[in-house]
Amino acid sequence: MPRESKSARPETVAIHAGRDVDPASGAVVPPIHVSTTFERAPDGTYPHGHSYSRESSPNRSSLETCIAGLEGGAAAVAFASGSAAVLAVCDAIGSGGHLIATYDSYHGTLKQLDEVVQRWGLEVTLVDTTDIDAVRDAITPNTRLLWIETPSNPLLAISDISALSEIAHAGGATVACDNTFATPILQNPIQFGADFVMHSTTKYIGGHSDVVGGIVVAAKEGKKLDRLRRYQTLGGATPSAFDCWLVRRSICTLPYRMRAHCDNAIRIAEFLDQHEYVERVYYPGLPSHDSHQLAARQMPGFGGMLSFCVSGGQTEALAVTNRLQLIFRATSLGGVESLIEHRASIEGPNTRAPDNLLRLSVGLEHADDLIADLDQALKQTEG
Ligand code: PLP
Repeated sequence: MPRESKSARPETVAIHAGRDVDPASGAVVPPIHVSTTFERAPDGTYPHGHSYSRESSPNRSSLETCIAGLEGGAAAVAFASGSAAVLAVCDAIGSGGHLIATYDSYHGTLKQLDEVVQRWGLEVTLVDTTDIDAVRDAITPNTRLLWIETPSNPLLAISDISALSEIAHAGGATVACDNTFATPILQNPIQFGADFVMHSTTKYIGGHSDVVGGIVVAAKEGKKLDRLRRYQTLGGATPSAFDCWLVRRSICTLPYRMRAHCDNAIRIAEFLDQHEYVERVYYPGLPSHDSHQLAARQMPGFGGMLSFCVSGGQTEALAVTNRLQLIFRATSLGGVESLIEHRASIEGPNTRAPDNLLRLSVGLEHADDLIADLDQALKQTEG
C-alpha cells in the first residue's frame, strides 16, 4: 500500500502522500501501471495488494491516499468523473428516504438528483443551505443525507458546514460536501463535521483542463465507506491509470496554484466591483459579500472562482465574452487558463443565474493582463 506523508502540512502531503520510489526501477517519479491484472502467488493471495484494476490499481491507490491525507479523512474512493462520485455518495446512504441539497448546487448535480437519484426512491428537497432555519425545517425523520455545496456554483454562496452538520447529525442524517471550488487547500469539510467530501478532480485538483475525474473522501471507516468501495468496483466508473497519474502529478503543485488563483481572483474581484459597467460581483473574498465573515472562518483563502453581472442583460453579457482576447469562452473551471461562461444559457430554464451573469474561472495568467482584457471588453458596453 502507498505510504502516507510524514508531515501533515498540505505542501508536503501534496508531494509525498501515496508516493514511493518505485521498488522495481528506483524511479523517483511514479510509473504509470497500465496493467489491468496482477500476478497471484502460488498460495492464491495477491502479494502486491492488487488483482484487477477495476478493483484497485497502484496509480489509483496513490491518488486516493494523497487526497484522503489532504482532506484529513480515513480513506478516499476515486471515480471516472465528479458526477460518478456524486452518485456514489447517494448510493452509499441506501435506497428510499429523503435527501436535502443546496438549491444552487452545480446544475449537473441537480439534474442527477432529479433524473437519476429520485428513481432510486430518494425524495429530494432543494434548500437554500445558507439559511440554517430553512434546513432545520426541511429535515424530516426520513432525511438521510444533507448535500452541501459551498462555495456554490455559480453564485458563490457560502454555507456554514459546522452549523449544518450539527443539525443534520441531530436529525440522524449524513453530511456530504462538494468541495470542488475550494479544494482541500482552502477548505476541509471533515474538520467542520462533514462525513463525506466530494471533488470533481476535473477542476482545480487536476488543474490543467486535461483530465476528467472525481473522488469521495470519507471521514471514517464504516458501512458507508464499504458501500462506496463496493459501488466503485461494481459500478465500474473507475479512472484509468493514466488519469490517476495525471491527477496525482497535478496535486504536487495544488497548494501553490491555489494561492496564485486566490491572489489573482481578489484583484479581479476588486477591479470588477469598482467598474461602471458591472452591476454586482459575487466573490466571497469581498467584504461586501453576504457571507464574507463566514467564508473567512471556514476558508484560509477565497478561491479562484467569481461571478459578475454586466450592466444590461444577456445580450450585453454575451457581447463582453465575445470581445475578450485573452480569456477563453469555455465551460469548466480550475485550470491554469482563465475561462468565462454565460451560465444562464448553459444551465437552461431552471437556472438561478441572472441572465446578465458571467462566471469567471480566474487562471494563472498575470492579473494585470486579465484585468486589461476585462477592462477593454467591458468599456465597450453601453450601460
Ligand atoms: N461539482 C461541481 C461543483 C462542478 O463544477 C462539477 C462540474 O462542473 C461537478 C461537480 C461534476 O464534475 P464532472 O464534470 O467531473 O463530472
